[in-house]
Amino acid sequence: MPSGRTHRRIAWSILVAAGVAYVFLRSRLNEFVSGDAPFELAVLVALGFVGGTVLLPPDLDLRRNDALRNWGLLGILWRPYAAVFRHRGLSHIPIIGTATRAAYLALVAVALAALARPVLDVVIDPSSVGWMTRHPLALLVGWVAADWVHIRTDSAFGS
Ligand SMILES: [Zn+2]
Repeated sequence: MPSGRTHRRIAWSILVAAGVAYVFLRSRLNEFVSGDAPFELAVLVALGFVGGTVLLPPDLDLRRNDALRNWGLLGILWRPYAAVFRHRGLSHIPIIGTATRAAYLALVAVALAALARPVLDVVIDPSSVGWMTRHPLALLVGWVAADWVHIRTDSAFGS
């Protein structure tokens, strides 16, 4: 099984290559999408990719993994996910695995938001994060891409 470090090295290499490709192809992208949208979409895809690599990889189906460390104390929230999903089972199937983690994350977020609503209303200004919610599909594309890279890395390096 490739280590978390191997997964991250490969993911960061792909992210840098995609960034370089974006710089060279951005004028072509402007032919399809106008205004600042191509840059905004590229940033969101990159954020989805980074989030999918650092916080939400398929290996959350393990009781111990690098991503849990990145969650800090909140890593305990992923224990039920690891208990339900067998390692390299559903969570390691492209798109379906991402969907299982997205659904689980949504359930946890709704439950936590309901508990913390009085605090969130005071601390978070919705307009400050609004740009991230304008194109949720771009974030999802980045996350699915990160999962695909992870799964391909698992296949390439074996167990
Ligand atoms: Zn894996």
